[in-house]
Amino acid sequence: MSRIIFVGGGVMSGVGKGIATSSIGKILQGRGFKVTAIKIDPYVNIDAGTMNPIEHGEVFVTNDALECDQDIGNYERFLSEEFTQDNYMTTGRVYLEVIKKERNLEYGGKCVEVVPHIPNEVIARIKRAGRRTKADFVLVEIGGTVGEYQNLIFLEAARMMCLKNPNKVLFVMVTYLPVPKSIGEMKTKPTQNAVRILNEAGIQPDIIIGRSEFPLDEPRKKKISVFCNIDPKDVVSSPDTEFLYEIPLNFEKEGLSTRILNKFNMRPKKKDLKDWESMVNRMKNSKKPVKVAIVGKYFQTGDFVLTDSYLSVIEAIKHASWNNMLKPEIEWFSAEEYEKNPSKVKELKDYDGIIIPGGFGSRGIEGKIKVIEFCRENNIPFLGLCLGMQMAVIEFARNICGIKDANSSEIDPKCSNPVITLIGDQVDLINNKKYGATMRLGAYPCILKDYTISYSAYKTKEISERHRHRYELNNDYRTLLESKGLIMAGINPERDLVEIIELKNHPFFVGTQFHPEFKSTPLVPHPLFNSFILACKKRAN
Ligand code: GLN
Repeated sequence: MSRIIFVGGGVMSGVGKGIATSSIGKILQGRGFKVTAIKIDPYVNIDAGTMNPIEHGEVFVTNDALECDQDIGNYERFLSEEFTQDNYMTTGRVYLEVIKKERNLEYGGKCVEVVPHIPNEVIARIKRAGRRTKADFVLVEIGGTVGEYQNLIFLEAARMMCLKNPNKVLFVMVTYLPVPKSIGEMKTKPTQNAVRILNEAGIQPDIIIGRSEFPLDEPRKKKISVFCNIDPKDVVSSPDTEFLYEIPLNFEKEGLSTRILNKFNMRPKKKDLKDWESMVNRMKNSKKPVKVAIVGKYFQTGDFVLTDSYLSVIEAIKHASWNNMLKPEIEWFSAEEYEKNPSKVKELKDYDGIIIPGGFGSRGIEGKIKVIEFCRENNIPFLGLCLGMQMAVIEFARNICGIKDANSSEIDPKCSNPVITLIGDQVDLINNKKYGATMRLGAYPCILKDYTISYSAYKTKEISERHRHRYELNNDYRTLLESKGLIMAGINPERDLVEIIELKNHPFFVGTQFHPEFKSTPLVPHPLFNSFILACKKRAN
């Protein structure tokens, strides 16, 4: 059995459990071990595909067509490993499996109960992920915060695993230590209470990672040690950092990998995080700004603006910028604003490049089309991702091919010129309201055309990229679009679908039906983002 490290959160959500999990994985990799990670989302949804990104953040997609939590994206970016269906669990998935087994009489006539059958299924899944990946360590991040009713069953699984294999299971608690302005001192009480709640679930944390605006000092560590029943050396200070990618190095400054390996009685191998260190140095030394605007719509929640819906896009911009020693300055613009007030697009001329990311539904669509027209006419580097590509095709059809009513049948189902439309099986799926996990999902091959921006970026003819969409460029319009200068730069060989469009005589105008952002990592930035940033750099100069 692999060693299992559970990571749970106390005090509040959003303290960085995902990054802490990824960073623990990174430092264990740095000691020569094979690591995998599992994200547990305590939702009844079967996957993240049916969740609104404003509520839940980005829907990340793996090669094997899993629509999952954005933390799987963090794991891939930090660990440079590909994750699969084995790496994700929701309450819904677990219950569905148990109910299926019950229907198949797999419990041999027993009463099937929440305990132990649900946690047993959780445990079986954790073990299976370890076996399949042959990992030395399986990190298991339990979503939510201790004390929430919905993650109790997962804590129960952790407790049961620990009871059975005390030498092979650890529990790490990531908590938050506020420094209220009115007091001016870091307070440990919320952490003490969170640990007490964890204790009620029968779990004693082995390590506490204290997230805060500032580093944890010795008095704080001592206090947590006394009240939470833990060695002060197992209290790890994890202050806010300028760059998330620094966190594994900060964990090592606190000696975390050695503490973990000692607890497992494992002989620590020599530390090696050289690539990571030089990547972080490059990041810190990237001073010349590159200004990128993202025009989207999943930002606003009440009075707050959140950018989690576009997490992988943002990270991919950063990776490519640092790779070119540039400091990314990313700004948000709401497509709806340009729909209401089209002349406002002029404000975008101060940017070195513009990205229109993926999305669904008609809100803000005309604003996006306006922005694309502005990029095309003013030679501003443009990268359209999925919906962004589809809107670029509509803009071209309307303004260059003269098809004034060109649209996507997602936006206008009765449209007489659907240059973007549903193809094949998708028609039946939509008619029958089969929405969950039925999009064109996961990795598909794509063949690149010679002498295109894409080919010179990838430097290879055959690529594979991840998808998440239902609509496609309508092949009935392909000849006309091509005759007016739209380049079909990438084609799916099996179904003859257009996956990339480009424009000639433009510094950088590329739209992809797939989502390149899902495959960018800080160590290996994505080639298309890299070329986009190089074009932005040129414009900045
Ligand atoms: N809504 C579009 C489609 O389903 C684009 C999806 C996306 O941008 N991910 O095809």
